[in-house]
Amino acid sequence: MNSLYFACATCKTYINAGYRWFYWTLVDTGLVGLNGKVNVETVLSAKEYWAGKEKEEWLAKLLPKVEDFLVKHCTHDLRYGEQDSFFEDEIGLVWLYESDQLQEITPRTYADILGFTSWQQVVEYVNSQPLSKRPWWWDIKDLFEQAHTAFNAVVNKPF
Ligand SMILES: [Zn+2]
Repeated sequence: MNSLYFACATCKTYINAGYRWFYWTLVDTGLVGLNGKVNVETVLSAKEYWAGKEKEEWLAKLLPKVEDFLVKHCTHDLRYGEQDSFFEDEIGLVWLYESDQLQEITPRTYADILGFTSWQQVVEYVNSQPLSKRPWWWDIKDLFEQAHTAFNAVVNKPF
């Protein structure tokens, strides 16, 4: 099974929705639509889903973050699904994965999470990491260049 996420298309951020736990308590029960639509109030009041906090340690860590995410983005364009369903390109150039772990690295991760301001810093950082920690697209020339361009756009945007 692929991972499922809550994703805000307004802010271009996404968060783990809880794998099978999400399926069992929200999809199988019909509390979220099969089309990826999310009614935030329905999800926030889905007792079974939030009860995961008492059942599994990883859910106890994850679900409070999911709750914050849903509240923060409740008036935005929110949906759920696999990455493919909301990424506009192969590697999610403009998306940010909200997680303490850096297992899904998009170009924005380097700017927004790691605080890098130049692509040179990104290259040095990635080259210092074990191969297993490199993003899957790192050695694919086209995608590497797209990431480079997207990173520059993120760090150069006016605030
Ligand atoms: Zn948002």
